[in-house]
Amino acid sequence: MDYKKLANLLFPNVTETVDALEKKYPKRNLEEGAIVTRFAPSPTGIDVHFGHLFNCFIASTVAHQSNGVYYLRIEDTDQKRKVEGAVETIIKTLNTFNINFDEGRTIDGNDFGNYGPYKQSERKNIYQAVAKMLVENGLAYPCFCKEEDLNKIRSYQKEHKLTHIGYYGEFAKCRNLTYEEIEENIKNGKKWVLRFKCSAKPGDRMSYDDYIKGVIEQDANINDVIIIKEDGLPPYNFAHVCDDHFMRTNMVMRGEEYSGVSTTEHIQLFNACGFEVPRYAHNPYILKLDPETGNAVKLSKSKHREASVSFYLRDGYPVDAVVDYMYLLANSDFEKWREENPTSPVSEYTLKISNLSKSGSVFDIDKLNNISKNRMALKTATQVYEETYAWANEHNKEWAELLNKHKDFAIKMFNIDRETAKPRKDITTYLKTIELYNYFFNEYFYNFNIENFALDESFNNYENVENVLKEYLNSYNENLSHEDWFAKIKEFSSKIGYATDNKEYKKNPEKYLGNVANVCGIIRVAITSQNKTPDLYEICKLLGKEELENRINYFLEILKNK
Ligand code: GLU
Repeated sequence: MDYKKLANLLFPNVTETVDALEKKYPKRNLEEGAIVTRFAPSPTGIDVHFGHLFNCFIASTVAHQSNGVYYLRIEDTDQKRKVEGAVETIIKTLNTFNINFDEGRTIDGNDFGNYGPYKQSERKNIYQAVAKMLVENGLAYPCFCKEEDLNKIRSYQKEHKLTHIGYYGEFAKCRNLTYEEIEENIKNGKKWVLRFKCSAKPGDRMSYDDYIKGVIEQDANINDVIIIKEDGLPPYNFAHVCDDHFMRTNMVMRGEEYSGVSTTEHIQLFNACGFEVPRYAHNPYILKLDPETGNAVKLSKSKHREASVSFYLRDGYPVDAVVDYMYLLANSDFEKWREENPTSPVSEYTLKISNLSKSGSVFDIDKLNNISKNRMALKTATQVYEETYAWANEHNKEWAELLNKHKDFAIKMFNIDRETAKPRKDITTYLKTIELYNYFFNEYFYNFNIENFALDESFNNYENVENVLKEYLNSYNENLSHEDWFAKIKEFSSKIGYATDNKEYKKNPEKYLGNVANVCGIIRVAITSQNKTPDLYEICKLLGKEELENRINYFLEILKNK
């Protein structure tokens, strides 16, 4: 067959050539070892999976560590599954976690970089030029099979228990159409797709050296896969090959779901086009231990809330904590580095691909919470304030309003037990600050009812409680030092029947109403509603004597009427 004639019949209007494209998108001038990689999301949803974020984190980090390029390409050739706003959300989400691109599409739909357009639906001319070249070289052909024809082939293959189900070899009947038949079909307006003429046969094996997983040997693709759909656009496979070639990607980093037979298909396509095959790096799935079976399963949006990046945003995990956690998921020695360098920027740590788990890292929310507490403890009160306020502005208006209205007070509040050698490690998320600190604000405190107060047996006898609190108010003076303040508490405690010496109390508990710890506990709960708080002395100082009195009266009132 005259393939050149066939190519012109199929693509009469395509004047673009592969040679011209090679010149238009020249090889990048980068130093040896520089990695050029990309994030290539399909805009089919607005909730980014944590696995995607993790992949992006790995790819952007290794690209930047190597002085390479990390770019964003929007893979929207599946026009039916396109979701409005998805691109913008993806970019915004990644930027939030400090993942930035050197080239690609921006939120406002513009491109930056010399290898664009960075949106596949705008690259039809490129795909068609390469497709036309494949037809000219006898490596692709039009297929007029309809859904029912394909179903028939599949049923036959299943009935005869063939190991391979698909459009290949003797089943690829459109491979054998003559030029005249093709011309006739086209004249009659028959719809066609373009298929790749695959030379692999059932049983053929292929191997490739995955940058993360090492050498992978496996069955080769044998199907004559579709490379141009009826609408003239390619499916993902062929678009990937053309784009990664002309965008001069040298490392395709992506999720594990593309490893295996898909990759063999992609390599076959690269070879057929005469393009250099990039290195592949498939990131294993993030796993999660199933508490019931103890087995590691894929972190999945339908089962685990941590699988959605929106979870971290909604709950307000500090970005630096999530980033630190991703480093840890990637390289377990990061933990030691972080211990030794608690305040260093992560960019000083070198991420090592060779240390990535080949079978998948196991996600552990407790670990993230722990990292988060440590990161938060290192922040200044003003930082905590600013970050919490920024989060609240988007996720909890009521909290944002209070923080804004009482800004100075809130900074002082966050400063209690902070900016010291041993800062308090209580905040895991900005959301948690509401639960931990709401009582500081009168707007919350005076709406509490008795169920909100963490009462224990110390509160069983109203008179004793009243006694403690009245004595406290009498003894309280805003100018007392921490030591003197505590000495006063001890003084009145002993006067009203509480032990001040714990050893003595342990020996003869029946002689006392309780000990000083119980006294402090009563004061703490009355003033804050909680039994665990930052330093009580500091809280009292911040609230001031008048407010202490109001709070104590309020508490006694509701305790009495309980
Ligand atoms: N568009 C594909 C996806 O969203 C990208 C796969 C790749 O990175 O090669 O999963």
